[in-house]
Amino acid sequence: MKVQPEEEQRIVAAIEAAERVTSGEVRVHLNSTCSGDALNDAQKAFRTLGMHRTAERNGILFYLALESHKFAVLGDQGIHDRVGQSFWDGIRDAMVPELRAGRWVEALEFGIAEAGRALAEHFPHQGTRDRDELSNEVSRG
Ligand code: CA
Ligand code: CA
Repeated sequence: MKVQPEEEQRIVAAIEAAERVTSGEVRVHLNSTCSGDALNDAQKAFRTLGMHRTAERNGILFYLALESHKFAVLGDQGIHDRVGQSFWDGIRDAMVPELRAGRWVEALEFGIAEAGRALAEHFPHQGTRDRDELSNEVSRG
């Protein structure tokens, strides 16, 4: 599945906007297919991307297998301890209608904004001390 540069740019812009108000980190990983369990694949990608190495353990990963129509969102221990499983379930459920309609970029924009709001609440931006710990670029599997 071909991802257009402007689609990728919109996702990066959503990540940048989210990270402007939080020390937390958001990443998006796109695969074309996923034969097994999306959450399992997402956990693998999470580790491969080094997302468990942020100082406050506040990275959030959106994993999307575009051709397999599979999807998962997961957060590291720091943010997970604060928001709980119901938060991830809520984001996922809210993204499903857009994903089903093929509007996956819109779904991600919405999910990233929601994730950013929760991160900002629990991990406010650290001003000049804040570092971009994880790249905002879309990762491709
Ligand atoms: Ca940061
Ligand atoms: Ca980042």
